Parts: sequence; C-alpha cells; structure tokens
Amino acid sequence: MYKAIVIGTGPAGLTAAIYLARANLNPLVIEGLQPGGQLTTTTEVENFPGFPEGILGPELMENMRKQATRFGAEFRNGWVESVDFSARPFRLTLEGKVVLEAETVIISTGASARYLGIPGEKENVGRGVSTCATCDGFFFRGKKIIVIGGGDSAMEEASFLTRFASDVTLVHRRDELRASKIMQDRARENPKISWALNRTPLEVAVTETGVKGLQVRNNETGAEELVEADGVFVAIGHTPNTAFLGGQITTDANGYIVVNPGTTETNIPGVFACGDVQDTRYRQAISAAGSGCMAAMDAEKYLEGSMVHDWSETLDK
Ligand code: NAP
Repeated sequence: MYKAIVIGTGPAGLTAAIYLARANLNPLVIEGLQPGGQLTTTTEVENFPGFPEGILGPELMENMRKQATRFGAEFRNGWVESVDFSARPFRLTLEGKVVLEAETVIISTGASARYLGIPGEKENVGRGVSTCATCDGFFFRGKKIIVIGGGDSAMEEASFLTRFASDVTLVHRRDELRASKIMQDRARENPKISWALNRTPLEVAVTETGVKGLQVRNNETGAEELVEADGVFVAIGHTPNTAFLGGQITTDANGYIVVNPGTTETNIPGVFACGDVQDTRYRQAISAAGSGCMAAMDAEKYLEGSMVHDWSETLDK
C-alpha cells in the first residue's frame, strides 16, 4: 500500500510528487497516455518564473520529472480505469485490472482538448484535423491552415502555425476575441494571419484526398461560406479528465472537481485535487504547479492526522 498516489504528470502532479517525495512519503505517480500533460504539446513557455529566456514545454516537464525521481518518487505507466473511495485504503484499478491501494490520492489528471462536434471533425483527426499545432504543424508546410477559436490557445496555435503554413485563417464565432491583449496583438501583427470573425463553424469540408476547408455561417449575413484550407486546427478549450472518478468526487456541471476554496480538499477526506482538473479560472502551468504543492502539503497534514478542517459537509450542501 502507498501513502500517496498521484494520478497525472502535468505541472500539478509532478510538483505534488516533488513535495511528497521530499517529505519521505515515497509517492507513486501514475503517468497516463500523455506523460507531462499539456505542456508537452506546446513549444516555448515564456511565463514560467525562473526561465528569463523561456524554456521548451517538454524540457520543463522532463526537468520536473527528474526532480521528483531524485527525491524518491516512483513512476508507473498506466491508465486509471476506476476508483473506489468508499472505503480505506482507497483503491485504484488500472487497465489490465491491477489494483493499487493508497492512504491518500492526489488527482491531477488535467484537461483534454475539446472538439466542436461538427460533421467531418472527429473522423478526420490525423487526416487534416488536429488539436495540437506542435504535434502536427510540420505536416502543413507551405499549406493553408484554419485555426478555430478566440482564446489564448487559438492565438498561440495560429502564431505558431505561421512557421509552417503559407497562411493561417483564424475562425471565431464572435467578432470579439477572448484572448489576452498581448496574445491578440501578437497574432494581429502577424502578416500571415487573416481573420474570419463572426463565423460559426458548421462542417469540416473534405474531398477524397483530404480536408478542403471549413463550412461556416456568416453571423452577420446568415449566409453559408466555405473557408478554404488544407488543415483545420481546433483550439476551443479543454474538458477536465474526471470521467474515471465515476461520480465519487463532487464536480461542477462541466466536470471540474470542486475543492474547498483555498485548499485542495475534495468532498472525500484524504483525496485532493490540483491543476487544471479543478481550475476553471487560471489554468496556467505556474498556478497548476502551485496547487500541486498545496495538494502535497494537504496530503501530508492528513497523513499526520493534523488536518483541522473536514469540509465534506460544506461541499455536499
Ligand atoms: P478559452 O479561453 O476557454 O477559449 C476557448 C475559445 O473557443 C473561445 O474563444 C470560445 O468562444 C471558443 N469556443 C468554445 N466552444 C466553441 C464552439 N462550440 N464553437 C466555436 N467556438 C467555440 O480556452 P483556451 O484558449 O484554451 O484557454 C484556456 C486557458 O489557458 C485560458 O486561461 C488561457 O489564458 C490559458 N492559456 C494561456 C496561454 C499562454 O499564456 N501562453 C496559452 C494558451 C492558453 P467564445 O469566446 O465565444 O466563448
């Protein structure tokens, strides 16, 4: 049995692992399908303090992993299929039906890219439709690309993709962008980016050989239009990875874990959540790392028996 199991290896999970390992709690860290989390699909991270020249996302995550290993964290590849938080110790079932037991569990499973749910989208992932510019941009050298979305992710993906594409069209359903000013300015100053605002995506249009563009509705005129492109990148945000919890942890309507404000406590004492899986507001690598530290310290206090507050009743209300 483990004193602490951490599920997920983004900045939140790895920071929790570093703190737990340094507290001699020998955590087991479960790495899922995307070790390192979302930062492994970004390029340069410019806003993580301590790296004045920036650092590559995968390198930052590799460094965090090394740091956790150095202090005794154990890593295991696997996919948590289900959990049983109804009795102590907690039980986690991995695919292959391996059962692991732990006194405390830290959930840091992050969030996954969202899709629009329009025709032609899911069935063409890997054949012209993508949610990861860093992974797939290279395949579109000299081609036309569409990026869908109006947030920071869309701005970042569009700017990044101009390294490969002949031109990038940013399609957004409103005429106002949600992205931060600095990211907007950067994209607006990029001569390779053109804008198709106030357009609702309707369908990814394909031919026998691949994607030919995006069918959209012009919300000003109501008319349908085809925005031509060889590739479509969907950058409309993320969904929290909480399905495996089977409803045992309180979540909000969108599936994000509800924690007691100012802590990482979930409705089950001894189970803590950190990072994007519980964060609808900040969703930054540094805030995820900070909450990972909090989760480890909360777990440590719980194991010592010195956790003062049990907020489960508050959360249940
Ligand atoms: P987001 O801020 O939630 O933006 C999602 C965008 O997709 C919005 O513009 C939204 O449109 C659009 N959208 C959502 N559902 C749609 C649908 N069904 N059809 C058409 N459009 C749809 O998500 P995000 O850009 O991934 O950013 C998430 C967080 O990460 C933010 O806090 C952001 O600041 C942060 N982030 C930071 C960086 C950075 O600093 N380097 C990079 C990436 C992300 P509406 O605007 O109309 O709702």
